[in-house]
Amino acid sequence: MLLCSVHGCHLGLVRDGRRMICPRKHSFDIARSGYINLLQPQERRAKQPGDTAEAIAARRRLHDRGFTKDQRLAIAEAINANSDDAVLDAGCGDGFYLGTLQREIGFQAHGIDISIPAVDAAARRYKECEWIVANADRMVPYADQSFAIVMSITARMNPGEFRRVLREGGRLLVAIPAPDDLIELRGSGRDRVGQTVDRFAGYFTLMNQRRVSTCADFDASDVRDALISIYRPMGAHPVEGRRVTLSLDLLLFQVT
Ligand SMILES: [Zn+2]
Repeated sequence: MLLCSVHGCHLGLVRDGRRMICPRKHSFDIARSGYINLLQPQERRAKQPGDTAEAIAARRRLHDRGFTKDQRLAIAEAINANSDDAVLDAGCGDGFYLGTLQREIGFQAHGIDISIPAVDAAARRYKECEWIVANADRMVPYADQSFAIVMSITARMNPGEFRRVLREGGRLLVAIPAPDDLIELRGSGRDRVGQTVDRFAGYFTLMNQRRVSTCADFDASDVRDALISIYRPMGAHPVEGRRVTLSLDLLLFQVT
């Protein structure tokens, strides 16, 4: 169900030793850590496509300290997956949400992201999932109707491609930062729910919507990690610990 990413090809890939090949002999390496790199040469030439290793490491430390537990539980409840489902996380980052849910539920898990350091970190930790480096803005490299569930968690969205790879009756979980997410560090953000629902309206019906907000006591290193994860400069003054809001809007859609 994995497809060749060469423009105009998009035939199925099969494994051949340490690489994946399509019938036209386009070939893609399987990295030592196990992920498959489907980026095209022009996409690799971008200096740093996607998140940096530093931002990925900072985000993983915050996940590992348990600050995003409520968000993870709410996402699990929203997607309501069972062990037979095939699940895609588009823009999977360090793989925390997909990898943790896969261990709990046992579904077939597939994660893609354009950032090599992100997917490498995911592949090193969560061996039971398939991890792909690809530009999902252009194409989600899977066959039509491959998945029961697609997740997009604070990631870029491609409504047409999400629809194509979902089967009939499939579900899409979109998580976007709520206006009060990290409000103590970056000020109030925009409410993106309306525009997000509009973007998906041609393909999906909104089934459910909720906001998951928690407050956490961050020490100075946690604050530093949060700033790194959103690419905010530290400023001249030393960073101090403080109470910080974490807040996601969760939108559950069904294929129309
Ligand atoms: Zn090909």
